[in-house]
Amino acid sequence: MAQLSDDCFAFGGPMMSVDEAVSIIAARVTAVRDIETVSLTAADGRILAKDISAPLPLPPFTNSAVDGYAVRSGDLAQVEEQAFPVAGRVQAGASAQGPVEPGHAVRIFTGAPMPQGADTVFMQEDVRLDQGKVVLPAGLKPGANVRPAGEDIPAGHSALAAGQRLRPQDVALAAAFGLTHVEVRRRIRVAVFSTGNELVSPGASRGAAQLFDSNRFMLMAMLVRLGCEVSDLGILRDDRVSLASALKSAAGTLDLILTTGGVSTGEEDHVKDAVESVGTLVLWRMAIKPGRPVAMGIIGGTPFIGLPGNPVASFVTFVHVVRPTVLALAGATQQHLIPMPVRAAFSYKKKIARREYVRVNLRRGENGVLEAVKFPREGAGLLSSLVDTDGLVELGEEITQVEPGQTVGFLGYASLI
Ligand code: AMP
Ligand code: MG
Repeated sequence: MAQLSDDCFAFGGPMMSVDEAVSIIAARVTAVRDIETVSLTAADGRILAKDISAPLPLPPFTNSAVDGYAVRSGDLAQVEEQAFPVAGRVQAGASAQGPVEPGHAVRIFTGAPMPQGADTVFMQEDVRLDQGKVVLPAGLKPGANVRPAGEDIPAGHSALAAGQRLRPQDVALAAAFGLTHVEVRRRIRVAVFSTGNELVSPGASRGAAQLFDSNRFMLMAMLVRLGCEVSDLGILRDDRVSLASALKSAAGTLDLILTTGGVSTGEEDHVKDAVESVGTLVLWRMAIKPGRPVAMGIIGGTPFIGLPGNPVASFVTFVHVVRPTVLALAGATQQHLIPMPVRAAFSYKKKIARREYVRVNLRRGENGVLEAVKFPREGAGLLSSLVDTDGLVELGEEITQVEPGQTVGFLGYASLI
């Protein structure tokens, strides 16, 4: 379990920017230490625990990049085509029979090792055969169509850094090095509760004034995508005492406790009091919309995050507070979200000094330029606004107004988790 000090999340300012939130989390949260060894087939999405340097060059030997004819560049005339006798044939996986004779060509195939002495390959499409000889055009550069050993990655080069969240291409690189296993940090364990008397679980019978709990399933799905081991701790009633005991008993064995709902200042918002009775708590008032205060705390050394109940606020604050916390706890390098420039097809007014996220769909506008079309309604409770859109337009703190045609930054949902 990651142990954090009680004042880990304390923050001085009245309003916190999103960037401040991420930097506080990255600086103060310590990563889990345990390391496990996993096979390459189980490595995708795991966090690399140790740097990997290239144990061999890639490619491991100099080889042909095309199907064609290998020659010594010194034998080539500058201006006229030349006919070379073909002596030898080398295919992928075979070793060359011997050095290429001066003035001769060797038939060669993609991936086959270059015969000794040969340094240039003519593509088969560029030559013709004439009476058993291959006719080579003039003007090919020495070294053409050859992949020198180590041109991709030289031996000893640091190829994958600890903290990397492994992607399929990273797994491919480990395989190309001949590794069968990699050392990764253990998955972090996260418990998720929903809070609210109005909530029932899907499958249970729903009273007239109740709704099915949706946030818990959204949050669990996002945590799984981030590589967490998730414990579903169900729905807690709006009651300080039962909330406090549930939080306390979850704290001992987990790396993070996440709740949704009950963190505003209403009389029936009991999460803050409950956390204070068993641990310490600070409210992060973040300059972000949608999103209300996010509760951050420590219960018995375990970090706690309380997200707002409205689904869209819950989603957006997850991305900006839970995601960096999970990455830090998991030992992953922080992955900064880089919005993609698109053209706004909407107008929008916003407050200065607050970051806002607008739910949008992308479409191809004039000249094929990508345009962001705003979802017509804005409520933070509208699940359809997340389901029926492609992503979020991020409007920075300094912006007060958006006009159609202006360039704005787009974050696709897939890039957020
Ligand atoms: P709260 O943050 O508890 O004040 O809740 C704000 C709004 O979000 C209320 O309308 C709640 O009914 C709704 N809400 C809270 N938790 C959930 C949840 N787990 N799933 C769906 N809606 C929720
Ligand atoms: Mg509530």
